[in-house]
Amino acid sequence: MQIILVSRTKKVPKTLNLADRRLRYRLLGMAAAAVLGCAGLGAAVAMVVASPRDRALSEIRHLRQQVQQQNQQLSGVRKDAQRDIDALAVKLGQLQAQSTRLNALGERLTQVGKLGDGEFNFDEPPAVGGVEDSADSSYALPQTLNASIDQLASQFDSQQAQLSALQSLLLDARIESNLKPTGMPVEGYISSYFGGRPDPFSGHSAYHTGLDISAPKGTPVHAVAEGMVTYAGDRSGYGEVIEIDHGNGYMTRYAHNSKLEVRPGQRVHVGDVVSEAGSTGRSTGSHVHFEVWYKGRVVNPLAFVKNHR
Ligand SMILES: [Zn+2]
Repeated sequence: MQIILVSRTKKVPKTLNLADRRLRYRLLGMAAAAVLGCAGLGAAVAMVVASPRDRALSEIRHLRQQVQQQNQQLSGVRKDAQRDIDALAVKLGQLQAQSTRLNALGERLTQVGKLGDGEFNFDEPPAVGGVEDSADSSYALPQTLNASIDQLASQFDSQQAQLSALQSLLLDARIESNLKPTGMPVEGYISSYFGGRPDPFSGHSAYHTGLDISAPKGTPVHAVAEGMVTYAGDRSGYGEVIEIDHGNGYMTRYAHNSKLEVRPGQRVHVGDVVSEAGSTGRSTGSHVHFEVWYKGRVVNPLAFVKNHR
């Protein structure tokens, strides 16, 4: 078989003899190349046409993988965070318990110190931070925890302020109470009260300006309040006498002593031994004549000796 190719440009038609084996192979090769080229082109065209969708799909697959990874990481972090939050919640609970104990202490101090009600609100309920509130006993929202911590912190601040105020009040009260005559100056029994009584010497009516406490000679006599010794020596009728000024209008006098243990100008504390009981001066037997003066006037010491500090 022969194929004659006629071309306008070429004057002589070209004759292709298909019987020629080399030519046949060449044509076959060209055909194969054409087929392959078409297939390649088609694939390229297909690629060009389909690639945005495919790329998007593969991207989505990739993103989903990433999201899954991140989800795993996140759940790990969340677990850690929950553990931390739980630990914090436990800590918060302990702090709240401590706050409650502080409240109880403050209340007790207020009672012990006999401080007026209403000055301290220690009975204010402690913060309920949500430890008890939350259903699954764990803090779902860190905000709740934060709010509780803030509340607790301010509670501690106010408690601190109240406690320091209470402390200074108690100290003042103690100083105040230390300055007030309280209790018996000597161990013994009251043998004569304050006020009108027959004079033990003349038998006539007389005014007894103090309290007589019977005690053996040498029994230690104690200061009934803090103060300064203003007199230590003999006074007509009183014998050997000690006088203590307590600086708040009160003065106490301890008379008929056998021995004086302090000097004028000496500072004495509650319970300090100032003398030994005796029977010096106008006395029928060993006893302590105890007087309390308030703002220059002698008063009945009975209420003072019956008080306890
Ligand atoms: Zn007396």
